[in-house]
Amino acid sequence: MKNIRNFCIIAHIDHGKSTLADRLLEETQTIGSREMMDQVLDDMDLEREKGITIKSHAIQINYNHKGEDYILNLIDTPGHVDFSYEVSRALAACEGALLLVDATQGIQAQTISNLYLAIDNDLEIIPVINKIDMDGAMIPEVTDQIVDLIGCKPEEILLASGKTGIGIQDILNAIVERIPPPAGDENAPLQALIFDSVFNSFRGIIVYFRIMNGTLRKGDKIQFVSTGQNYIADEVGILKLNMVPKDSLSAGNVGYIITGIKNAKEVKVGDTITLAANPGEMIQGFEEVKPMVFAGIYPVNTDDFEELRECMEKLQLNDASLTFELETSKALGFGFRCGFLGLLHMEIIQERLEREFNQTVITTVPNVSFHAYSTKGDKIVVNNPYEMPDPTRLDRIEEPFIKAQIITLPEYIGNIMTLCLGKRGILINQSYLTPTRVELIFEMPLTEIVFDFYDKLKSSTRGYASFDYSPIGYREADIVKMDILLNGDKVDALSALIHRSRAQDFGRKLCEKLKELLPRQQFQIAIQAAIGAKVIARETISAMRKDVTAKCYGGDISRKRKLLEKQKEGKKRMRQIGNVEVPQEAFLAVLKID
Ligand code: GDP
Ligand code: MG
Repeated sequence: MKNIRNFCIIAHIDHGKSTLADRLLEETQTIGSREMMDQVLDDMDLEREKGITIKSHAIQINYNHKGEDYILNLIDTPGHVDFSYEVSRALAACEGALLLVDATQGIQAQTISNLYLAIDNDLEIIPVINKIDMDGAMIPEVTDQIVDLIGCKPEEILLASGKTGIGIQDILNAIVERIPPPAGDENAPLQALIFDSVFNSFRGIIVYFRIMNGTLRKGDKIQFVSTGQNYIADEVGILKLNMVPKDSLSAGNVGYIITGIKNAKEVKVGDTITLAANPGEMIQGFEEVKPMVFAGIYPVNTDDFEELRECMEKLQLNDASLTFELETSKALGFGFRCGFLGLLHMEIIQERLEREFNQTVITTVPNVSFHAYSTKGDKIVVNNPYEMPDPTRLDRIEEPFIKAQIITLPEYIGNIMTLCLGKRGILINQSYLTPTRVELIFEMPLTEIVFDFYDKLKSSTRGYASFDYSPIGYREADIVKMDILLNGDKVDALSALIHRSRAQDFGRKLCEKLKELLPRQQFQIAIQAAIGAKVIARETISAMRKDVTAKCYGGDISRKRKLLEKQKEGKKRMRQIGNVEVPQEAFLAVLKID
């Protein structure tokens, strides 16, 4: 055990974690040059395309330091706030962390939030200024920022480039010399922390764990503490680029276990694996992941509902943080109300449904989860506008609040104040991290963040602001349900729950946006926004005069077919509601309102 080091790499998004991991793997010949590619651990298609890490990854590195062999277990973590629970569990599986800071960017919001997570988990922190090969590298400034932030000595900060390989050897040495070996007792009852799982269609769910105490052997009867379910350890092993089976693994090690579980819901990140015969206690810090944002997902074609259900179930095997239940919409028919960790998560689910499962879907207006209290004192959890009780039966509504942390340059404080106060934010604190870097803390309603906050923040600071948030509970709010009517028909999938003070403005803008997005038809379309029976905004789309298809020319058949196919393609994401055709963009129009 004294020759094991478990570490992770933490950083703000894009500061170079995955690239640095590549270099560590290359330098130690963990991955041969033939298998090497950029961000090799991001093995999901979508990860490779978006250039972001969605799932945690673990890999074992063998390293010889001053004539002694060491095992270094590297856990790569996702950086985006939507996946921060995974980060926190991955950190709990380590004794140390490389904290990367991009030399051209300096400290950003997730640098700080991830650092706090690392400190909470008592990790040894090795600060690294990364990307020093770049022209804009500000090594002295970033050194000062890091010294201020973590209180280390300047000489303790390593300089590196994941691109060119500068400093990689220093990092490997520091991992061995500064990070403590794991503690733990091989002979105590088994306690292994689950920090991730993946679905494999041949083997079922593969669970990644770190053993804190005890020993796990192939063939053992194991138990998941939070669910009390028992399984047989069909295979246990360590993680190289591929899985390497072993007869047993003991305290301090990182590995995988295969038990033939097919249902992702049985495996929870943060849960503890123990032995059924001699159970150990739950490792502290386990939390069920709670969805933050809800939206409907519907098949474009109502006939495809059953197929979509199968695909959602399969997708959930791979992403246990996705929740869904059946819902019906008058406008859209059968579909699912889904819970997501955030908007990025929602976008990823929609894309995975399309790419991996070939499903064309419509997602409806996302909303947060409200708590409604009836006059009788019942609490109703409202994840969907239609679940909101009638105003006459309503005592009060509460909405989720978050603590937002924004780091920016002093010249943008004014813009950020305007933006956040306009979003019902309350300024809690303003402090200078360095003379050129200021941190603002706001308390804000989550619902204001969900829509377009991040884009607005970027545009009002020309990209010089980073943002992170964490939930801080529910507070009373004056929330109303706003409906949209097309030619007098209420389109339930376009209903939204919003703050009363915003309803008027929001309704007007939404009607304007819908006017832009709905295709003109042979007849006039009236678009109305209403709260209860009261219409608060209205727009009209005038009727189309001429039939455009008459303009289609004869002649070249294949060209004509191409044109038709193109039109079909364009139509794919349309739904007929009453007599009005509504494209997918319309359902997400709320996200595009400024
Ligand atoms: P992550 O989000 O922290 O995992 O960051 P990535 O490793 O995906 O890197 C983000 C971007 O920065 C990619 O375009 C990388 O090619 C680039 N990058 C990463 N490390 C370096 C570096 O040391 N130097 C330079 N010039 N670019 C880098
Ligand atoms: Mg990455």
